[in-house]
Amino acid sequence: ETVVVLFNRDLRVGDHPALAEACAGARHVLPLFVLDPGMDARGRAGFLAECLADLRASLRDRGGDLVVRRGDPAAEAVRLAREVNASAVWASADVTAYARARERRLARDCERERLEFRLFPGVTVVPPGRLIPTGGDHYKVFTPYWRAWAGTRWRELVEAPERVSLPPGVEPGELPEAEREPYVPGGESRVRRRMELWLRHGLEDYAAGHDDLAGDRTSRLSPYLHFGCVSPLELARLGSRNEEFVRQLCWRDFYHQVTYAFPEISRRDYRPRGRDWNEDKDVAQAWREGMTGIPIVDAGMRQLAAEGWMHNRARLIVASYLTKTLGVDWRVGADHFADLLLDADVANNCGNWQWMAGTGNDTRPNRVLNPIRQARKFDPEGEYVRRYVLELQSYPGGAVHEPWRLSRPVRGYPSPITAQA
Ligand code: FAD
Repeated sequence: ETVVVLFNRDLRVGDHPALAEACAGARHVLPLFVLDPGMDARGRAGFLAECLADLRASLRDRGGDLVVRRGDPAAEAVRLAREVNASAVWASADVTAYARARERRLARDCERERLEFRLFPGVTVVPPGRLIPTGGDHYKVFTPYWRAWAGTRWRELVEAPERVSLPPGVEPGELPEAEREPYVPGGESRVRRRMELWLRHGLEDYAAGHDDLAGDRTSRLSPYLHFGCVSPLELARLGSRNEEFVRQLCWRDFYHQVTYAFPEISRRDYRPRGRDWNEDKDVAQAWREGMTGIPIVDAGMRQLAAEGWMHNRARLIVASYLTKTLGVDWRVGADHFADLLLDADVANNCGNWQWMAGTGNDTRPNRVLNPIRQARKFDPEGEYVRRYVLELQSYPGGAVHEPWRLSRPVRGYPSPITAQA
């Protein structure tokens, strides 16, 4: 008996329920990844290429391989299953409209070909759809979801298989070329040590330090969580002694759960806004380029351009500034994030953007973050700003947050595009 395990956003061998069960029960297992031309990896292509190379190496160490194909994942999985005379196609369940349409195609094609099709957990801690509020269709607000999530029994972790036995005669196929080296190395074996170190040295300090912009004291595990190089369940179990940290993983599950229940979240307002957006293209472009003249906003945007990552506090500030202060549509911001972030994720990206724009799940939709006050609080010495806004590098202390008050003019740096500052 042969099982095809279709990989997607679960690029690991550890705690992979579909892979573990296939290896425990079937004679042969064919791990497959299909490069889907419809899925534009944008700034993530290099990171993805490293994740795939790492997964292939881990599977080869176990006697197997990662078979790589190009095309529609559903069609390719079924075609390959027929080629090797497999009896089943298994995958980890995902949440977006795109992924669920693919799962439906797979289910239909498998049925036609008399293949068993099964979906397994693994992309979130608690599977979306598992927690349902009494009397409601899905959780719309975080706090009740968090209470239910923290109180539910999580599944047990599963071990990485010791051996993966590939069916004979399968051409492995070429991995994609990394067009550009990513800012951080991709792959499960590369992140393992990073995760262990962070849990040992960073976790204790998380509640006090996660908003410290210059200190950079968050885990930076988000790209690995996005591609599934880290099991969110394993991370939640290992980090469970710090509630504040586990709460962040619950936010991730929450947005996956909301996306599962309301897949239009990636394009349509979760709650109607009732006002027009500002369509001034120059304003949006200044924001993208980190040239708004508000140093804390520009520092965040330039960190994004340089590293493919931005600190969460900075994400909140730049998102509030774009949508609330400048009045620009959150989709403009979310699209730019999706272009550049290594961790860009439909659920987390659109969920957080809508939350900040006041069209989402926030219970205080009119909240506006004052960028200067935020800067003084979370970057009091101006270190974060100086790290990314080089025009301000030679100005000491927190005064960099308001360059228009400096006695010495700043060369090459614009004045604020908004009067509010
Ligand atoms: P840590 O603080 O170490 O947290 C651990 C993990 O918890 C993160 O890796 C992430 O998976 C999860 N997490 C933390 N905060 C959130 C949150 N607010 N919502 C959902 N999950 C969270 N995160 C993404 O993974 N992809 C995105 O595309 C994304 N877009 C965002 C857009 C905006 C406007 C905002 C405000 C936030 C966005 N976030 C997104 C959430 C958050 O900023 C990042 O997950 C976090 O900064 C990643 O850094 P870290 O791994 O060091 O996080």
